[in-house]
Amino acid sequence: MLKEFTIISKMQRSNLFIILFLIFTCSNTIAQNIRVGLFSKQIVTDIQISIQNGKYLLKTDNLIVDTLKSGENLSLRLINQQFHCHLNDTIYSTDSIFSLISLNTNTSFFINHSNSGSKARCYEEDLIILYSNERLTIINKIDLEKYVSAVVEAEAGYNKPIEYYKSQAIICRTYAVSHLNRHIAEGFDLCDKVHCQVYPYKSMTPEIRDAAFSTENLILVDSSYNPILATYHSNSGGQTASSENVWISPVSYLKSIVDSASINGKNYLWQKKISLVEWKQFFNKYGISQELSSDKYLISEATRNKTVLINNTPVPLSKIRSFFNLRSAFFHTTLDGENIIIHGKGYGHGVGLSQEGAMFMAINGTTYDKILKFYYKDVHIVKLQTVNAIQNSFK
Ligand SMILES: [Zn+2]
Repeated sequence: MLKEFTIISKMQRSNLFIILFLIFTCSNTIAQNIRVGLFSKQIVTDIQISIQNGKYLLKTDNLIVDTLKSGENLSLRLINQQFHCHLNDTIYSTDSIFSLISLNTNTSFFINHSNSGSKARCYEEDLIILYSNERLTIINKIDLEKYVSAVVEAEAGYNKPIEYYKSQAIICRTYAVSHLNRHIAEGFDLCDKVHCQVYPYKSMTPEIRDAAFSTENLILVDSSYNPILATYHSNSGGQTASSENVWISPVSYLKSIVDSASINGKNYLWQKKISLVEWKQFFNKYGISQELSSDKYLISEATRNKTVLINNTPVPLSKIRSFFNLRSAFFHTTLDGENIIIHGKGYGHGVGLSQEGAMFMAINGTTYDKILKFYYKDVHIVKLQTVNAIQNSFK
């Protein structure tokens, strides 16, 4: 904690006292809820809901009209610009908002609609349904940590070490809290698709839930106390990439590092064969003559540079990767008759945390904070309330 505050030593003393007061009075007492748009890329005009667990209040606009308990079903349908809610033999109508509000702690429901093309999904806590522009907007209002558990489960999968789940939970939470304004015009904070983070159903794995709640409210920040862009990929191939060599801008905490933990992963090495004719045609787009001898097209050493020189012409490695659909931009090449053999390392863009490297470290006893600080340079892991208190003190 003391180390964290050395960063803000330039702040005015009065601000620091306010921040300290807020942190020690607010930490661990605020459960943050977020609103996630469900079925967010689909046009929804009807919904079927089944209560899985607990009791709910049913409200139309702000009026309580009924209660529901486990096993009860509800259907909502748009008819003549009103939406009608069928519960047992009763029909409730509104032209603006329906909500299901949890009456106890472990509430959950199944939800689906006619055009989803998939099975009903199960979510926890509250449900809000808005009507506008002849479609329904479906919003799950949920505790941040339960949301984080569900996203980590969808992203990281099952049977992974707990310290790895903790590092993924902090990455997920950092991303979520720094993108809360993305869908404000639609009435929610984050969507349920890859655009925000995939949120397909509630978390069902106790270990993942423990990982989220044991790191409750922790996020990654840079030296200015701004949440970081915590990018990650499958396997670094033994060396991560600097952000400016893959995208455009340099970022202080996304710097290339040697990552020996990743050489143990299943995505460490790969190979791909490409015809020499196709290979030469690609480089011809950069003004490189197709008449050059074949050995002039070879890349002798895998690097994490931005470009590679072919006959003294710089060619972006990321363009070679995307054109030939390669697993990574970290490779060297050899000749095999009329073909080029690409010998690659790693999987993904290579910037930030390597998932397979982080898993290897976690299995071998490295804790989540050390894993995160290994892959993200000079970052701090702090409570969300700390960041909010600092930002509010400067308003
Ligand atoms: Zn989104």
